[in-house]
Amino acid sequence: PKEVEALAARLLAMIASAVSSGGSTFSGTVCIGIELSDGTPRSLEDRGHRALLALYQAKIDGPNAYRVFTRELELEVAGRKRLESAVIEGLEANLFSARFQPIIQQSTLHCVGFEALLRLQLLDGTSVPPIEFIPVAEQSGAIVELGTWILHRAVEAAASWPETLFVAVNLSARQFENGKLPETVKNVLETYNFAPHRLELEVTESLLMNDAESVSRQLDALKRLGISLAMDDFGTGFSSLGYLWKFGFDKLKIDRSFITGLGADEPRARKIIDSIVTLAHRLDMVVTAEGLETQGQVDILRGLNCDQFQGYLFGTAMPPVDLPAFILRQNRVNSLVPEPPARFAS
Ligand code: C2E
Ligand code: CA
Ligand code: CA
Repeated sequence: PKEVEALAARLLAMIASAVSSGGSTFSGTVCIGIELSDGTPRSLEDRGHRALLALYQAKIDGPNAYRVFTRELELEVAGRKRLESAVIEGLEANLFSARFQPIIQQSTLHCVGFEALLRLQLLDGTSVPPIEFIPVAEQSGAIVELGTWILHRAVEAAASWPETLFVAVNLSARQFENGKLPETVKNVLETYNFAPHRLELEVTESLLMNDAESVSRQLDALKRLGISLAMDDFGTGFSSLGYLWKFGFDKLKIDRSFITGLGADEPRARKIIDSIVTLAHRLDMVVTAEGLETQGQVDILRGLNCDQFQGYLFGTAMPPVDLPAFILRQNRVNSLVPEPPARFAS
């Protein structure tokens, strides 16, 4: 096995090394799938299939990679294939739906907007969680179609809400690849006659790290449309101040892991959150804390001057029909009392 792997590594290196011809320089990439006999007699076809599975994985790890077939790899690939079919089935049979999770203003405890979140329920009734189907849809490219679909559903729903409410939509890096995102967003805004400032687009830092030129051009174009930009999951990546500054983000969402961290090591998590909030405010950004589940967390974050709250304590992602009742209840309960009440504790 060692020799085979060494050979594969040598092939990768040789093909990747640059070759000059006619004044131009070329280099290649290659992916290799390897199947090694474990002594069990198998047909050539069967072994070819195993090598192909290893190749399939190498292509995902690639552009320049080799993988050796293992039983775990087979299970992993089978799982991903199932998810890929689920995403295709979901798009064809209209099995995706949009849910909306409330975002609450700290100072009033009023609902000020909702984040649109995708849901997938298969025909057999099973729900596939986004953390499973989103990465697969990103890999296969289906996220581009799916991303446009949810943008439509989100803005369509929000167009019927009170004008003081915004809607936030998540974007994947792949949606920036064809350069047409600003045009798509403009179309959606026009279709539903929706005020741009009520639309917030959430991106993560990973987006800003590759192909900066085209991404930055599109982010600028989006900002010129008048929409608002939010940095999602802040604190989990590079947490670069440069990016926040350069791209003119309007909002920063502190990742749930910091909020959970308040339970494990409160003084430390508190200091980190405090620094993030101070920094964001200095850069004129609104700060939202994600994943609030307890009143204790709310009290701490209020002390740290965090602007907005999102989490199961206030509400989970709901279908559009449930929103009017939620908004009425949330905003009525909290306008009866001068000081923000602690009613959401239980
Ligand atoms: P995210 O953008 O960070 O979304 C917040 C996630 O945290 C949601 O999970 C939400 O249900 C969950 N959450 C909210 N409050 C709480 C809480 O108090 N406790 C806990 N434990 N969780 C809470 P969900 O809906 O499963 O989505 C997971 C991720 O999938 C999202 O993370 C986002 O990265 C991705 N995703 C969801 N919908 C879309 C979409 O339309 N487009 C793209 N590109 N990604 C999406
Ligand atoms: Ca988000
Ligand atoms: Ca998030």
